[in-house]
Amino acid sequence: MPAAFQVRTSRRIETVDITGEVQKRIPKDFSGVCVVYTKHTTTAIGINEGADPEVRGDIERNLARLFPHDGDYRHMEGNSDAHLKSILMGPSESIPVEKGSLLLGRWQAVYFCEFDGPRTRTVTLTFLSG
Ligand code: ZN
Repeated sequence: MPAAFQVRTSRRIETVDITGEVQKRIPKDFSGVCVVYTKHTTTAIGINEGADPEVRGDIERNLARLFPHDGDYRHMEGNSDAHLKSILMGPSESIPVEKGSLLLGRWQAVYFCEFDGPRTRTVTLTFLSG
């Protein structure tokens, strides 16, 4: 059964740790796979280090360098850099779950990545039984 929650950002490019939001929506005693998905074309879901917040900043700054906002794009909406960052990272992550707990590594966190904010977005969770 799918579940969903909202993520609100305050900057154009912002990486938000949503590990706790995902974990608290996993049914007790569920084992299988939790698919964390974003339906938006200028956002992404990623898994990476959650211990040092500087990692998030490094990801944000270097994605911005890779795809600058004022780069050579044709898309008339003016947010092509956000589309490119989104397709590079992808819209979902599939995370193994055992007895209601995400099986993340010690240093891993689940990130919602906004590339065309600030906005309020929806993250969908789908639970696949193993
Ligand atoms: Zn666009």
